[in-house]
Amino acid sequence: MIVSGQLERLRAEFPGLRIIRHSDSRLIALISRALRLLTGNRDFARTFCVIGQAIYVPDEWERMDPVSIVIVLRHERIHLLQVRRYGMPMLAFLYLVPFFPLGLAYVRARLEWEAFEETLRATHELRGEQAMLALRPHILEWFTGPRYGWMWPFPAQVGSWFDQAAARMTSTRPH
Ligand SMILES: [Zn+2]
Repeated sequence: MIVSGQLERLRAEFPGLRIIRHSDSRLIALISRALRLLTGNRDFARTFCVIGQAIYVPDEWERMDPVSIVIVLRHERIHLLQVRRYGMPMLAFLYLVPFFPLGLAYVRARLEWEAFEETLRATHELRGEQAMLALRPHILEWFTGPRYGWMWPFPAQVGSWFDQAAARMTSTRPH
């Protein structure tokens, strides 16, 4: 139920939105192979991602926990907004070209961080403060490890992004 509600809101905001399973996409098969080669990442089949106006979803996504799906869809919504803001060719350039050299992809890290702030917000709203704070080591690992190609290998900086964002989420001040 909460998943269909979230999808409805997304479709209203992005009328061209398509939801595509990994196994229905040759592009995804290609990206998956490239990632395995470049980063050793074998988990791509289980991840969501946005390309153009499509959200690519794991084949088994409907069997996943609904709250987790909603949180991920809220993260992907930020990427859809980025596609709208920059246009897909520019976004692909910003996202992919700074992939080389691996490990110094500041622009990509900032684009991803914008989406992860929404992950924090959604987790805080749907699962509470402790669950949000528990994301910290995972997010540090994702930014500094192979999952995103050692995107921003500076744990202290990612940690301080996290702490500042988490403080904003739990702040009781009206904004
Ligand atoms: Zn993302």
